[in-house]
Amino acid sequence: MERNMAEQNKKNLQYIEEVTTNADDVQKRVLAEILTRNAKVEYLQRHNLNGHTDRETFKKVIPVITYEDIHPDINRIANGDKSPILCSQPVSEFLTSSGTSRGEIKLIPTIEEEHGRRSLIYGLMMSVVSQFIPDFEKGKGMYFMFVKSEAKTPGGLLARPISTSIFKSPHFINTNYTSPTDAIHCLDAYQSMYSQMLCGLCQNREVVRVGAIFASAFIRAMRFLENHWSILLNDIRTGTVNAQITDPSVREAVMKILKPDPELADFIEAECSKDSWQGIITRLWPNTKYVDVVVTGTMSQYIPTLDYYSNSLLPLVSTAYASSECLFGINLNPFCKPSEVSYTLFPTMAYFEFLPIHRNNEVLDSISISESHNERKEQQLVDLVDVKIGQEYELIITTYSGLYRYRVGDVLLVTGYKNNAPQFNFVRRENVILSIDSDKTDEFELQNAVKNAASNLMTFDVRVTEYTSYADTATIPGHYVIFWELSENGSTRIPPSVFEECCLTIEESLNSVYRQGRVCDKSIGPLEIRILETGTFDKLMDYCCTNLGASINQYKTPRCVKLVPLMELLESRVVSSYFSPMCPKWVPGSKQCNNKN
Ligand code: AMP
Repeated sequence: MERNMAEQNKKNLQYIEEVTTNADDVQKRVLAEILTRNAKVEYLQRHNLNGHTDRETFKKVIPVITYEDIHPDINRIANGDKSPILCSQPVSEFLTSSGTSRGEIKLIPTIEEEHGRRSLIYGLMMSVVSQFIPDFEKGKGMYFMFVKSEAKTPGGLLARPISTSIFKSPHFINTNYTSPTDAIHCLDAYQSMYSQMLCGLCQNREVVRVGAIFASAFIRAMRFLENHWSILLNDIRTGTVNAQITDPSVREAVMKILKPDPELADFIEAECSKDSWQGIITRLWPNTKYVDVVVTGTMSQYIPTLDYYSNSLLPLVSTAYASSECLFGINLNPFCKPSEVSYTLFPTMAYFEFLPIHRNNEVLDSISISESHNERKEQQLVDLVDVKIGQEYELIITTYSGLYRYRVGDVLLVTGYKNNAPQFNFVRRENVILSIDSDKTDEFELQNAVKNAASNLMTFDVRVTEYTSYADTATIPGHYVIFWELSENGSTRIPPSVFEECCLTIEESLNSVYRQGRVCDKSIGPLEIRILETGTFDKLMDYCCTNLGASINQYKTPRCVKLVPLMELLESRVVSSYFSPMCPKWVPGSKQCNNKN
């Protein structure tokens, strides 16, 4: 068994060497394969590809697109059109992306075989980690996994997040985790979290890695422990599951693992009742070698909290860079510092192209630029092996499941090479300004939400003259903070309940991933509005122009602030603050799933 594992790891590492060495050939083959099997699909015929499978013709005739461009095609598939529109293979389900298109969740069509492609990469990642921690496969991972509710499109296809699809797939093998599958599959967020934590605690000595897909979910688990350790240890002491866990399959699954263990309960009690929660991971799970969570992109905001929980003793390991559209790449140097994480885009996963982003921040923007300009930009796209170190690019993908020259919306920076395959820092996602968990709120949505909320003030003859925002992750769960400056007309007359109503209106106006996070997963806390002294935004502009080199002519109020001095300036001028009094409305399924349009 052990020898098999060692052989498999060796094979996997060899495979990584081969694929990265022959990156260009592999990319050529991947594109030819995608275009050959999809030669007859409506989309490629519409663009007159005429069965060509070479890069040159492909690049000449197929346009670079965004989700909006294929929205009508996606709607047809969602409504039950089974003809080969984008892909020759049947669409097996839709993956609901946390990114939105004009406030609506994106539905990404996928095909059955993508599971296999993802599983293969997962195997490669494990082999990469095993180079650094040879025996880690012998221990267990306390890895918090949650599923979300599924919707059906009018045509009967499932629509669910990629993580739910993976955890519920028959390809998902649960041998090395402390969480029983029934606990992972439980839709009740409390019961799922409780039972996973209970099983993680009672197998504490076997745990060699802890984590969750994203840092935010793992931090939520640690906070859950902080709030519930006394009932958890009671269950460990007695070997019973308390009555709050009502799901019979979860109870049964937990009872297979749980044994009365008063000694362990005493140990947990002693650790959890200490004054400080610092280093709690290494204290309760002493054999842990690393924290397996993505801490790149917006998740980097959680690094200090993770360091606190691990007493800075454990490496934070971001293994993969993925999306609903494609699993793009893996981190071949997983134990590097979070700030140095580079992902190697894996050449077998899709055909990758890159749009250079120029120093003056001139990014291809299909909404605002003319067609001829767009064409000129398309000509600038480069292939995977042609990207330059130090240059930023927007990622464009062509996938086996039928996306052709599709703009993912992520900006990546080339940092180096593994053989002939480039490696990238994740720089940012275009347009996203606020994110706590898997929610991604863009400027357009925030503006719309603020406009809706501000209308509550009209009867008081008060306007919101300026606003900005930030994602406050000092609270667990984190929450959105919106700073408002109001027109002079006596804001004191406005009762607090009106501002609270404004908070709720903003939440009601945000997309369903946000609202689901608030209502269902409780991964996002109540939204807060902080009212600022009059003149604060003038001071903000002065600061930006004097200290940050902004030009007065071109200055635009930042709709999200991250820089500490700007935050301090705003904080010092807050006159009052209000929280959303209740959860916004949320029903399972996105609008596209419930609507025929
Ligand atoms: P979704 O389509 O909801 O799965 O979201 C995918 C997006 O999440 C990507 O396009 C990135 O913007 C972001 N993302 C995924 N993995 C990472 C990562 N390892 N580091 C930073 N951002 C990531």
